[in-house]
Amino acid sequence: MDMADTAVIKQHLIDPEICIRCNTCEATCPVGAITHDSRNYVVDADKCNFCMACIPPCPTGSIDNWRTMPRIRAYSVADQLTWDELPAELSADQLAEAGVAADAVAVEPAAVSLPAAASGEEAFNSAQYNATVPPWSAAHAYTNLYGPKAAEKTVTATVVGNVRVTEVGKEYDTHHVVLDFGAMPFPVLEGQSIGIVPPGVDASGRPHHARQYSVASPRNGERPGYNNVSLTIKRVLEDHHGNAVRGVASNYMCDLQVGDKVQVIGPFGTTFLMPNHPKSAIVMICTGTGSAPMRAMTEWRRRLRKSGKFEGGKLMLFFGARTCARPPPTSRRS
Ligand SMILES: Cc1cc2nc3c(=O)[nH]c(=O)nc-3n(C[C@H](O)[C@H](O)[C@H](O)COP(=O)(O)OP(=O)(O)OC[C@H]3O[C@@H](n4cnc5c(N)ncnc54)[C@H](O)[C@@H]3O)c2cc1C
Ligand code: SF4
Ligand code: SF4
Repeated sequence: MDMADTAVIKQHLIDPEICIRCNTCEATCPVGAITHDSRNYVVDADKCNFCMACIPPCPTGSIDNWRTMPRIRAYSVADQLTWDELPAELSADQLAEAGVAADAVAVEPAAVSLPAAASGEEAFNSAQYNATVPPWSAAHAYTNLYGPKAAEKTVTATVVGNVRVTEVGKEYDTHHVVLDFGAMPFPVLEGQSIGIVPPGVDASGRPHHARQYSVASPRNGERPGYNNVSLTIKRVLEDHHGNAVRGVASNYMCDLQVGDKVQVIGPFGTTFLMPNHPKSAIVMICTGTGSAPMRAMTEWRRRLRKSGKFEGGKLMLFFGARTCARPPPTSRRS
């Protein structure tokens, strides 16, 4: 066995039991090391350069897993796509069997400067723009208080409101859903999200993974002083290519009746938070249901201003919509 065969690496892996398939890591990785299929998000050991850009933005921490492996036995992307759970660390005996000396030290490339993209231009890395750092005056965000690994760690919320907010008969069906947590603490800040665990199993018989929804209400509740949150959910009836589908979680949520119970995990997200500094201005850019966290932020500022104790900085919102709310004005000459 030559030396190259016995080299040991720290392999970067994603825990499929915790990952909520939010795509944040794939969108962040500057070298395209993270990919996914309909089942799992995975890391290609041949591409990952340990730059760590994907670690802070992952809302669940499922990205932060490492295994000491002989390089030639590194888990392939194809292996990882079949996993339901992370494999255990190899035992000392298994490592010895693979020719790894007991005192071998796993190597990881030093954090590297970003490589040029395939086009020759510098690859985009959101971390470069501090997108993974919350505003300095943001409040402390609590995350991962519930789930998602064990079913018993979810919180049961009760639906206390479900209103369609787009016109009936129009193409897009979006709902304002209010969930009440009762006596269970569920602290959230504007800009955070929660995970909804739809009941039932997917096509391969596994429990559905959780889907994330941005909190659309301010930190003190949809109704001030109540332990509830609101969500803005678009019913998914076609996939990104326009083919007819019935999105599991969005349809489940849009069809809920007042009094129904929902399994919730989270909260998630520590970076996309609003500043607490009273003079801070906020520029918001969104489309469609991406306005949910902006509603939370603008409503929180509105409540603070109403209290008369807050001279808030300016708020500016850019909203993109697929269709015009009103027909365009007719030409005066026609
Ligand atoms: C941080 C975060 C916050 C989010 N906040 C919101 C929110 O506030 N409101 C909201 O409505 N959604 C939000 N989403 C998206 C949401 O988590 C789900 O992905 C979405 O509701 C679809 O889930 P589904 O189970 O209905 O569809 P699935 O059953 O998961 O998917 C069915 C098919 O539809 C495709 N698809 C998935 N989503 C869309 C889409 N939006 N448009 C077209 N095709 C799609 C899938 O690729 C798949 O082919 C958020 C996602 C993230 C990561
Ligand atoms: S939960 Fe973490 S590991 Fe899973 S897709 Fe999101 S960012 Fe990636
Ligand atoms: S550590 Fe860096 S290279 Fe590796 S998967 Fe995460 S973002 Fe990509």
